[in-house]
Amino acid sequence: MTAEVTTQGLTKHFGEVHAVDDLDLEIADGEFFSMLGPSGSGKTTVLRMVAGFERPTKGRILLGDADVTDLPPYRRDVNTVFQDYAIFPHMDVIRNVEYGLRVKRVDRKERRRRAEEALATVRLEGYGGRKPSQLSGGQRQRVALARALVNRPKVLLLDEPLGALDLKLRREMQLELKQIQRDVGITFVFVTHDQEEALSMSDRVAVFQDGRVEQVATPVQLYEEPASEFVAGFVGTSNRIGAADARRLLGTPGEYAVRPERLRVVPAGASVERGELMLPGRVREVVYLGPTTHAMVELDGGATLTVSRPNAGGAEPPLEVSDRMVAVALHRNSLIALSGGTEETEETA
Ligand code: ATP
Repeated sequence: MTAEVTTQGLTKHFGEVHAVDDLDLEIADGEFFSMLGPSGSGKTTVLRMVAGFERPTKGRILLGDADVTDLPPYRRDVNTVFQDYAIFPHMDVIRNVEYGLRVKRVDRKERRRRAEEALATVRLEGYGGRKPSQLSGGQRQRVALARALVNRPKVLLLDEPLGALDLKLRREMQLELKQIQRDVGITFVFVTHDQEEALSMSDRVAVFQDGRVEQVATPVQLYEEPASEFVAGFVGTSNRIGAADARRLLGTPGEYAVRPERLRVVPAGASVERGELMLPGRVREVVYLGPTTHAMVELDGGATLTVSRPNAGGAEPPLEVSDRMVAVALHRNSLIALSGGTEETEETA
């Protein structure tokens, strides 16, 4: 595997703020790689350093084998797509797309040909003559994408490019973006704070917190085997079972997470399958969410677990808030062991 983008000990401090701290990443050629994390966790700063808009405090950046740390943005074979499109409102679409080639003095015919090709890639054939104001938000974002693709960069950096779109359009564009990436085979480095977006598009995801990477993994690994409590909570929803509850309810030391869809609400006293635990409690809240229903079950002793059930039209009795005793069925295989929490991650001086 050749790494297309490598960061070595990449660090950025803004005064007291450690925006990015000692980051080592290897992003493979042709990979759709996402950087996921809450606001302020350092994702954009990493992207800006790779693009060359921001100078690292420490560390190196490689594109392929070449160390580009000290090169200006225009000497790096990357392009950036931002959330706010950055397309010129007074130019029609085709001129917007051609722009980068004009700057590079590519001749007119070749420019047109490549611009048309880029528009076709983003499924905007025939839109070249329109002004940006005559396009929808999703179409404008595609023009921005075509503008970057026309330069045929080795790496495309995307900073929350779908952030300004409404939810439905955003979900549609996610699928399209993934398809476009597959078609063109360019390495995509994608910044988002939307975990569903990262899971649905990426080959691998780096989860950021406080300028550091908590885990780099495939979407399946991130969800099924989160490396820390933070990842378990940030990617999807999970129930946390703290040390005291684990000892009391599960009879084991350590801390755990368990996904709501791995739990079932069953009648009190229902028979137990092998490896399954029955935790008695009462349904305190029921939330209907369309495809699923969530029940909050307060266990004997105080802990509350969220249980998710698909609304598949089966014969199961409806979930209802009630003082009647029920049980939460939990298979031991569904428990995700969390690494010792804060003690282990805290640095020793
Ligand atoms: P968001 O999703 O909100 O864009 P992010 O994860 O991309 O967040 P960054 O924008 O990289 O986070 O910011 C990381 C930290 O660095 C934040 O605490 C931010 O306030 C700080 N920061 C970023 N740029 C600067 C700057 N130019 N000057 C000072 N502090 C900055």
